Amino acid sequence: MLLNGKEAAAALKETMAKQVEYLKAKGVVPTLGIVRVGGKPADLSYEKSAAKACGDTGVAVKNYALPETASQDDLLKVIKEVNEDESVHGVLLFRPLPPHINDNVVRRALLPAKDVDGITDGSMAGLYSGSGEGYAPCTAESCIQILDHFKIDVAGKKAVILGRSTVIGKPAALLLLEKNATVTICHSKTRNLPQTVREADIVIVAIGRALSVGKEYFRAGQYVVDVGVNPKPDGGKGVCGDVKFDEAEPIVAGISPVPGGVGSVTACILASHVIRAAAKQPENTVMF
Ligand code: NAP
Repeated sequence: MLLNGKEAAAALKETMAKQVEYLKAKGVVPTLGIVRVGGKPADLSYEKSAAKACGDTGVAVKNYALPETASQDDLLKVIKEVNEDESVHGVLLFRPLPPHINDNVVRRALLPAKDVDGITDGSMAGLYSGSGEGYAPCTAESCIQILDHFKIDVAGKKAVILGRSTVIGKPAALLLLEKNATVTICHSKTRNLPQTVREADIVIVAIGRALSVGKEYFRAGQYVVDVGVNPKPDGGKGVCGDVKFDEAEPIVAGISPVPGGVGSVTACILASHVIRAAAKQPENTVMF
């Protein structure tokens, strides 16, 4: 089965468009503030996807673009502005920030209630405690959204995650644990990696190593979500995943492609968080 991210995204967009309609009828236009320092191609590309996902569902976008040379104070002023602007419900802050800006100072300045990409300590605490407060990092939640969309029940199953970053591996592990999977997190020091991965029912691969996970990692019956987005090793056009799709696909029960997998869902999850943030405002008080 192809775990097609575009299909999962289309279904999500349909639900979101109805939620936005409901909020607009109450006079609320869910709005995302996008804060970017500099113009890295990857940031510009995601900004475009975010604007598209928001546009498709009726979420408005306000852009705050600063030059690469902007100081930490310049950026903190923008963060204060979006924090205080009641018409902005959620904020996407592109990271990593330039080296002259202290990441911890800036991300902690953002109001947790507007932290729709799960970068503040408040969002991380909510994920850790399972309290439902805050927002999970969008890419990690996209992996779960794909499994949910294709009705892959993770409860009681063995899930193995390759990668332990704070944006994907760790939050994906907590989200799967919350859904009653038994979770193992692997990383660059893990021994017998192929054997550990073969024991899993659900495999999430987020290591950033192009086409490095081949057939020796897989067995029949597994569902594989490939998060990797990498330049092709042969220098060809486009991107590729971490998994050797052609080797894994004939073996496993389901796999997400790259492109057209997790990346297609991430911006929709971001838009869905903005809608939730707008709905949570005291005067609206809807739980989506
Ligand atoms: P990262 O911060 O570099 O983390 C990579 C993780 O993989 C680290 O925990 C590292 O282990 C582990 N790792 C590296 N090589 C390994 C190996 N050979 N075996 C096992 N584990 C290994 O990367 P990231 O930000 O999480 O991103 C991962 C991938 O996802 C990248 O390709 C990125 O482009 C992609 N991505 C996709 C989306 C999307 O929407 N689709 C969004 C963001 C990122 P150590 O901790 O031991 O170093």
